[in-house]
Amino acid sequence: MKFLCTSLLLLTALALSGCSTVGESSSRTASPSAINLQQMQVRKGTVGRRKEFPLRAKYITVHSTSNRGATALQHARGMANGAFRGRSRWNRTGYVTWHFTVDDRVAIQSLPLNIQGEHADHDGPGNRSSIAIEICEFRDARRQAAAVDRAARLTAWLLNEKGLSLSRVVPHYHWPQHRFGGNKKPCPRIFMTRGRPGPRWQQFLRKVDGYR
Ligand SMILES: [Zn+2]
Repeated sequence: MKFLCTSLLLLTALALSGCSTVGESSSRTASPSAINLQQMQVRKGTVGRRKEFPLRAKYITVHSTSNRGATALQHARGMANGAFRGRSRWNRTGYVTWHFTVDDRVAIQSLPLNIQGEHADHDGPGNRSSIAIEICEFRDARRQAAAVDRAARLTAWLLNEKGLSLSRVVPHYHWPQHRFGGNKKPCPRIFMTRGRPGPRWQQFLRKVDGYR
């Protein structure tokens, strides 16, 4: 999501004070505690939740931020503060929103799982039927690998929670931009090979499967 960049530049140093850890410690590799899942939900009735559309999730859509170096906390704080305005006239809420942002240290939930985000395809089936995960991008390979690993655990946990099969994990690329001639976004770009899902995407799916 390239349009996040400018908004994020406006963000200053951020404190973790708004986060609270959920879940008890558990030996399960895909548990909220193993994921270090924290909450910083957009307040109901504000910014991206002024207008809400109910969600019964059938898919999990995976993105990467296209915003190298910015953390999950920066994204979550920006979303809660309404920093990411939806630029397209087909954005239904006026804001870009999604459910989880994951980096090398933490996963932060920004939307309840029963509310649609505005992350994939405007009023298309991607937004209407999927939970969205944004994976943070890092130049440092070790940080990137840690973020990907955490995202795989989170995805596995969500599949288990929702009773969904691995085939329901899709890249943003999966949802054609029906408002823009069916164009397919090369996202998550960290998993693209020549602009489409390839071996790196398959490797991510195998990792998710391993944590189920
Ligand atoms: Zn995307």
